Amino acid sequence: MTQTLGGWRRSHTCGELRAGHVGRSVTLMGWAFRRRDHGGLVFLDLRDREGLTQCVFNPATAAAAHATAQEVRAEFVLAVVGTVQRRPPGTENSKLPTGEVEVQVTDVKILNESKPLPFPLEEETAVDEAVRLKYRYLDLRRPHVLRNFVIRDQVCRAVRDYLHAQGFLEVETPFLTRSTPEGARDFLVPSRLARGSCYALPQSPQLFKQILMVAGVERYFQIVRCFRDEDLRKDRQPEFSQIDIETSFLDRDEFLPIVEGMIVEIFRRVRGIELPTPFPRLAYDEAIARFGTDKPDLRFDLELRDCSDLFRGGEFQAFAQVLASGGAVKGLCIPRGGGMSRKELDDLTGAAKNLGAKGLVWVRVNPDGLQSPVGRVLESAKPALVARFAAAPGDLLLLVGDVMPLAATVLGRLRQELAHRLNLIPADQFRVAWVIDFPLVEWIEEERRWDPVHHPFTAPRDEDLPLLDSDPGRAKAKAYDLVVNGQEVAGGSIRIHQQSLQEKMFKLLGISAQEARARFGFLLEALEFGAPPMGGIAAGLDRLVAILAGEESIREVIAFPKTQKGTCPLTDAPAPVDPAQLRDLGIRLVEGS
Ligand code: ASP
Repeated sequence: MTQTLGGWRRSHTCGELRAGHVGRSVTLMGWAFRRRDHGGLVFLDLRDREGLTQCVFNPATAAAAHATAQEVRAEFVLAVVGTVQRRPPGTENSKLPTGEVEVQVTDVKILNESKPLPFPLEEETAVDEAVRLKYRYLDLRRPHVLRNFVIRDQVCRAVRDYLHAQGFLEVETPFLTRSTPEGARDFLVPSRLARGSCYALPQSPQLFKQILMVAGVERYFQIVRCFRDEDLRKDRQPEFSQIDIETSFLDRDEFLPIVEGMIVEIFRRVRGIELPTPFPRLAYDEAIARFGTDKPDLRFDLELRDCSDLFRGGEFQAFAQVLASGGAVKGLCIPRGGGMSRKELDDLTGAAKNLGAKGLVWVRVNPDGLQSPVGRVLESAKPALVARFAAAPGDLLLLVGDVMPLAATVLGRLRQELAHRLNLIPADQFRVAWVIDFPLVEWIEEERRWDPVHHPFTAPRDEDLPLLDSDPGRAKAKAYDLVVNGQEVAGGSIRIHQQSLQEKMFKLLGISAQEARARFGFLLEALEFGAPPMGGIAAGLDRLVAILAGEESIREVIAFPKTQKGTCPLTDAPAPVDPAQLRDLGIRLVEGS
């Protein structure tokens, strides 16, 4: 028989009791986690959000409570009254914060029962993710799962405290809005009142935060949900959260330290780690040249080196030709990588080809010389090659000759992959860096047009303005990304605040005045009413929390995430709707869809 609280009041949490509480009478409430019946005494670990406390039911001193405890099954909801006592010597549990004590129960109430569980809540049990998500409320009861949400809460609090102290205002922006320019597909919400028209869920509050700057808010932030209808590539979610920030009157070098301060505060509060400032800055071109990526993982060295000069006009035709047509030869030295088997090296070559390279040349540095499938033709470059990498016997050199940046990015991927495989990445270390000076635009060959690398409101560097007319591909943007351990954690830019430059940018991007007006007319109009210089950033909250929690997947730090197919196993969303609802919206489904 289950009972109501009936006036009982919780005196402590299940994570709170220590030796100092011995002798105190307490009331605890929570869930029955584990029960051990020692024929006579019954031991029951009571669990709430804060921890576990061992409760002892003794038939000799509390017969009724003991009888009730025998009925208790996993995840029954209980209230116990009892006295805190020291655990008998030798039975303390040093792994548990409450492990010195136990509660000798005098009275117990079963507040609710539970059906047998679909999976045990013990940490050690591996459970299929679809089952975990269907029963997410049970999954979240597991202390190691709940812990990620404690971290998430700490991050949000640190963000709010820090930004408020810096004079930021938290302002909300609409979810039912128009399409925003991040480049993904929009989620649409059909309007009932304006049949045939749709709202779009925002891919980010980009346009609104710029308008808030025109409105004189000066420093805005919001922890905000964003929606992008993308195919769910690895670890993307259709809805995710950003720490969204925008400021007025600050240039890049004044703005970035404010963001650094926020990241420092988060790491300090959540992990007790003091990140050194200022964060190192890498120009985009340098990041590509040295690490083959704009998200370099700086926890390990393994830098790419340019070897083009060693092969120009040389015997090795494949490389000589690539160089003659403007490409590059990039190389990577894997310390002690020479021990890799022929099969492993063939697999690496296959991986390089899958990444788009024409091939991969490997060179083993043996004590008696170099060994490579292209052996002889490397002959003349040999000494210089070894010197370029300061390579030692046992090392492995990998060379890719191709167009740039492909030659570098292929090696960049192998760099990361091999560092993992060879255990070169130190555990529990955080290396943070800014990547700056991104290209402003990139050429989309199939569509024969320029596309913004960030978004169309990103300002070019002042010194690159003339390039917009002469050589747009070489213009760099006032854009920046924050990279932590090889993952992009935040990205943003200083914006174009003058309407004339914005129009010029649209023209470069092939967005007609008409189209610009149709898509972003409200922003363009706002820019005509005294828009201040402005810039901002958005940090991916989910990714940041996952990094701090040591989780690979952002699904582990989202309370109710979607599966890779965009479904929610808990609610079964998305789901068909009542035909009457569709009728109200003026929607008829096409046969077969
Ligand atoms: N709105 C941009 C994004 O979501 C970030 C920014 O430019 O502030 O990527």
